[in-house]
Amino acid sequence: MIKLAGIKKSYDKHEVLKGIDLVVNKGEVVAILGPSGSGKTTLLRCINYLEKPGDGEISIGDFHFRCKRPHKKDVHSLRQKSAMVFQHYNLFKNKTALQNVMEGLVIAQKVPKEEAKRRSIALLEKVGLGAKLDAYPSQLSGGQQQRVGIARALALNPDVILFDEPTSALDPELVGEVLGVIRQIAKEGITMIIVTHEMSFAQEVANHVVFMDQGVIVEEGAPSELFNNPKEERTKQFLKRIR
Ligand code: ATP
Repeated sequence: MIKLAGIKKSYDKHEVLKGIDLVVNKGEVVAILGPSGSGKTTLLRCINYLEKPGDGEISIGDFHFRCKRPHKKDVHSLRQKSAMVFQHYNLFKNKTALQNVMEGLVIAQKVPKEEAKRRSIALLEKVGLGAKLDAYPSQLSGGQQQRVGIARALALNPDVILFDEPTSALDPELVGEVLGVIRQIAKEGITMIIVTHEMSFAQEVANHVVFMDQGVIVEEGAPSELFNNPKEERTKQFLKRIR
C-alpha cells in the first residue's frame, strides 16, 4: 500500500500542493485528473522525490519517509521504490533501446550484465519491440520510444509505476499503442498512478480516480461514480468542459 499524508509543496510563495492525503492499494490503478496547473505532475514527482515536498509523509509498504529534512539514504530508498514514465520519454539518446532498459538494472541495481540483458530483451518483447533492440531513440517513433520508457520502468520492478501524461506528447495515431501496453500491464496487478487527460482510458483502466484542483484533492472514488455521478461542483464543471 502507498499512503501519502499531508504532502505540501511550494514554489516561493505559491503553494502548489496544499496537503495531499491519498491511499493507493497494492495492484490498484489510480488515475489523477484535473485542470492544467492543479498540481498533478508535481504530486507525482514528489512521490519519487524528483521534487522535494516541503512537508508530509510518504509510506510505501512498510517504508516510511518523512519529507522534512530526510536523510540521504532514505531519499535513495524512496527513489528505489518507484519508477517514472515521463511525458517526453527521457531516454538516453546515445543508447539503444536495449541499453536504455538495461541501464537502471546494471547501474542502480547492480544486476549482472548478462541477466540484465536477458530481462531487458524479454521486457522489450513484451511491449512489442523485440525487433527494435538495437535502434536508437531517433530511429523510433514517439509511441515506440514511450514503450521503451515503459519497459525501462518495468525492468526496475518497482512497488509503483508513476506515469506522467504518458501519451500527451504523441501524435494521435500513436496514442492507442501506448495505452494498449499500459492496459496490458494494468491487468498484471502492477500498482500504477497515472496522470492523464485521456478520460475514456481513465474510465476504462483505473480502479480509482482522483480529481485535483488548485493543489487539493476535490473528489475521489470509483470511476463509475466520479464520471457519472460527481458530487462536487468543481468536478462537475471540469467534466462538462472536457466532454
Ligand atoms: P498540466 O496538466 O498542465 O501538466 P499539472 O496539474 O500537472 O498541470 P503542475 O505541473 O504540477 O500542474 O504545476 C502546478 C503549478 O506549479 C503550476 O502553477 C506551475 O506553474 C507551478 N510549477 C510547477 N513546477 C514549477 C517550478 N519548477 N517552479 C515554479 N513553479 C512551478
